[in-house]
Amino acid sequence: MAEQFDVVVIGGGPGGYIAAIRAAQLGFSAACIDDWSRPDGRPAPGGTCTNVGCIPSKALLQSSENFEHAGHAFADHGIGISGLSIDVRKMLARKDKVVAQNNDGILYLFKKNKVAFFHGLGSFAGKEGDAWKVSVAGTKPAELVAKHVIVATGSKPRSLPGVAIDNVRILDNEGALAIPEIPKKLGVVGAGVIGLEMGSVWRRLGAQVTVLEALPAFLGAVDTAIAREALKLFTKQGLVIHTGVQITDVKVGERDVAVAWTDAAGKAQSATFDHLIVSIGRLPFTGGLGADVVGLQLDERGFVAVDAECRTNLPNVWAIGDVVRGPMLAHKAEEEGVAVAERLAGQHGHVDFNTVPWVIYTSPEIAWVGKTEQQLKAEGVDFRAGSFPFTANGRARAMGDTNGFVKILAVRKTDRILGMHVIGPMASELISEGVVAMEFGAASEDLARICHAHPSLSEATKEAALAVDGRTLNL
Ligand SMILES: Cc1cc2nc3c(=O)[nH]c(=O)nc-3n(C[C@H](O)[C@H](O)[C@H](O)COP(=O)(O)OP(=O)(O)OC[C@H]3O[C@@H](n4cnc5c(N)ncnc54)[C@H](O)[C@@H]3O)c2cc1C
Repeated sequence: MAEQFDVVVIGGGPGGYIAAIRAAQLGFSAACIDDWSRPDGRPAPGGTCTNVGCIPSKALLQSSENFEHAGHAFADHGIGISGLSIDVRKMLARKDKVVAQNNDGILYLFKKNKVAFFHGLGSFAGKEGDAWKVSVAGTKPAELVAKHVIVATGSKPRSLPGVAIDNVRILDNEGALAIPEIPKKLGVVGAGVIGLEMGSVWRRLGAQVTVLEALPAFLGAVDTAIAREALKLFTKQGLVIHTGVQITDVKVGERDVAVAWTDAAGKAQSATFDHLIVSIGRLPFTGGLGADVVGLQLDERGFVAVDAECRTNLPNVWAIGDVVRGPMLAHKAEEEGVAVAERLAGQHGHVDFNTVPWVIYTSPEIAWVGKTEQQLKAEGVDFRAGSFPFTANGRARAMGDTNGFVKILAVRKTDRILGMHVIGPMASELISEGVVAMEFGAASEDLARICHAHPSLSEATKEAALAVDGRTLNL
C-alpha cells in the first residue's frame, strides 16, 4: 500500500532537506528520501555538503589553521610552543564527528517538523491519476505517492578523461578529505574553490602542494584585484600555482602518481606526487532517479531543465540545487528549496542569483557578491570603486591578520552598490553586510554613514564605502 504525501523530496542535501522542512512548516505532509549512508549503514542526510563538502572541509581547514597558527603566529603573541605535533587520525576523527553531529541534527529537524524520512534510493515509478509515484529502494523499500515532487539529487565530482578516481592515489573531494597521513608531495588539478581549500589544508600541515590550473588566469571569476592579491599571498605561503596548464599524461603507480603537462609557454613539464586531487568541477547527478521513466527533461549538460522558478517540464515536478543551473553552492540550493516550498503554498518565493554570496575559505578568506570590476567594464557601466586595506584596520592589527582589503563598486550616478569583494580575515562573515546592502538597494553612502562597532573588521567595509567617494577617514 503506497504512502500518500503532499510533497516528496528526492535528495536530502541542503536543497532537499530544507525544502522538506519548509514544506512541512507550511502545512504540507512532506517526505524526504536520501540514500547517503554512514560507514555502519545508518542514514547520513545532508548530502555532499554535510558528508563530503562544506562541513568536513571547514572542519579540516579549522584544524590545519590552528596548527599553522600554533607553529607560526603564536610566537608573535609571546606564546612559545615546543614539540608541536599533529595527530592526523585524531584530526580526521574530529571531522567525522562534526559530520555525524550534522547528520543527527538533520534527523532531529525532520522529527521536529514531522517530515517523514526514507533512507534509500528514490526513483520515479510513474503516475497515479494526477499524482506521482516514487519508489524507495533500500533497507525498507516503500512506495510513495505525492502531488508534488522536488528533485534535489545534487552533483558528483568530474574526473579527468581517462583517469579513474580511486581515492587512494587519485582523489576526488571525498578522498581529499580523508588522506590518512600528511603527503610529502600533493598535486591538485584545478585551482577552483575546492582545489584551493583542500590544497591549503594539506599545505598547512606540511605537504608540498602544486596546483595545476587549465585556465590562463588565476581565479578568473573573481575580481581581478582580489585574484592578484590572492595569488601573491598563496604563493608566499608556499602553494605552487601553475596556470594555463594542459595535462598530457597521468600514470598511477603503487606509491605515487606521475603527472606530465605542458605549461603556459607550451613547454613539457612533469612531477611525481604522493596523491593527486582532481577538483575540476562537478556534474549534475540524476543516476537512478528514473528521469526517463516519466520523461523528466534534462538539458544538454545533464542538468534537470528548469525555468527561473525551478519548474521542470512535468506538472508539479520541481528541481533545485546542484542538479539545476546556477551556482553550485549550498546556500543557493537552500534558498531554492525554500522558494519552491513557498510557491507550492501560493506564496512568491524568490532567489536572486546576483545577491548570492561566494566564499573561498582559504587564509585569507575570499568572499564576494554582485559584479566584479571587469564585468562592469565589459558591460559599459559607469561606476566608482573604493578599497580599504586591513593594514589600516585596528582590529585586524590587534588580531595580527592584516592581509587583504575590502572593495566596493557602485554606480557613479546613483551610487547604488553593484558589488562587494573581500580578501582578508573573516571575509565569509563580512560579506553578509554587502548582501544585505544589495538586497535593500543601498548606496555606498548608506554603508558609509552606518555606525560600525569599533574596533571591528567591519569598519574596513565602512571605510571602503567611504573610499568610493574618495573620503576615507583612517587612510
Ligand atoms: C569539498 C567541497 C566543499 C564545498 N564547500 C562549500 C562551501 O563551503 N559552501 C557552499 O555553499 N558550497 C560548498 N560546496 C558545494 C555544496 O556542497 C553543494 O552546492 C551542495 O551540497 C548542493 O546541495 P544539493 O542539496 O543540491 O545536493 P547534494 O548536497 O549533493 O545532496 C544531494 C543528495 O541527494 C542524494 N541522492 C541523489 N540521488 C538520489 C536518489 N535518487 N534518491 C535518494 N537520494 C538521492 C545524494 O546521495 C545526496 O545525499 C562544497 C562542495 C565540495 C565538494
